Amino acid sequence: MARDTTGTVEAFVAALPKVELHVHLLGSADLTTVADLARGHPQGEVPTDPEELAAYYEFTNFDHFLDVYVALNRLVTTGESVERLIIGLAETLAADNVRYAEVTVTPLSHLKVGIDPAELADALESGRLAARACGVEIAWIFDVSGDDGLVGAWATLDWILRHQPVGTVAFGLGGPETGVPRAAFHDAFASARAAGLRSVPHAGETTGPGEVLSALTELRADRIGHGIAAADAPRLLAHLAEHDVPLEVCVTSNLRTGAVGSWAEHPLPSLLTAGVPVTLGTDDPGMFGTTLSREYVLCATRLGLDSTELASVTRAGIDAAFCSPATRRALHAELDDALGTVLPEGTTPAPYR
Ligand SMILES: [Zn+2]
Repeated sequence: MARDTTGTVEAFVAALPKVELHVHLLGSADLTTVADLARGHPQGEVPTDPEELAAYYEFTNFDHFLDVYVALNRLVTTGESVERLIIGLAETLAADNVRYAEVTVTPLSHLKVGIDPAELADALESGRLAARACGVEIAWIFDVSGDDGLVGAWATLDWILRHQPVGTVAFGLGGPETGVPRAAFHDAFASARAAGLRSVPHAGETTGPGEVLSALTELRADRIGHGIAAADAPRLLAHLAEHDVPLEVCVTSNLRTGAVGSWAEHPLPSLLTAGVPVTLGTDDPGMFGTTLSREYVLCATRLGLDSTELASVTRAGIDAAFCSPATRRALHAELDDALGTVLPEGTTPAPYR
């Protein structure tokens, strides 16, 4: 019999209509999907058995995580597999009461393993429509992996502008951070912004606050992927708070990749105390064995966030989304309705600490 979760933090989180702004399509694939894809590539190193795959996902450090990510990318060689990843993600999001998601896709990584450029664009659109049928609105962030350099960034931008996938909202920068200064991508981000895309580089995940500052000053970041290193720099924190620059924080990811050593060291509470807008993301939920709801629950049980703070994080995510004003209004209204149900009018939610 299922555990009764009425009145628990799990029930509260489940009732929140959520937005997910930091999730990579490739890293979202669940164990069964990846094992299936691996069976189609028997020469590869990725295990075909879901249990072995779970062990393969024990990361020793951030570089090891990136190596596994690259191995996974080699399994996705057709538009059909891209579409399968999107539908799998949409079903998970729908089951998790996530209404709107900005999903990061790395086009160049897919093109490099042989997907035809137009086939990739078509697969994204088919997947987006299938997600909508599941009740999840998907928008796209197209990023370049840092190790593909500025040349890779131009190639990515060229693909975006040539194919103009419906739902494209932003340009990103992911992959390794160490040895890959954000500032090196200045020109490509300037062109992307001129083309109407928002700027969402990863920064300060495994590097220091200087790279977060670079993301702001050189790449004109509208939001920052992770950005947790800002917690070490009070003036930077004050700047993020004053200018309302949201950080996309992914707690399980930080612990699993070793970007943060322990729960006690996670800076999320300090970011909130400093007044920085924070939204929660899963990053690579299939690889980290998590869901957005689980991230919320962990923030309550491990980091001490109370229900008011959890709801504020959802609210901040809606404000930080690159959606239309109508979608934003609808998301806020839905959140208000849900809070009205789980939090009777006039009551202050009791903390879950
Ligand atoms: Zn990420």
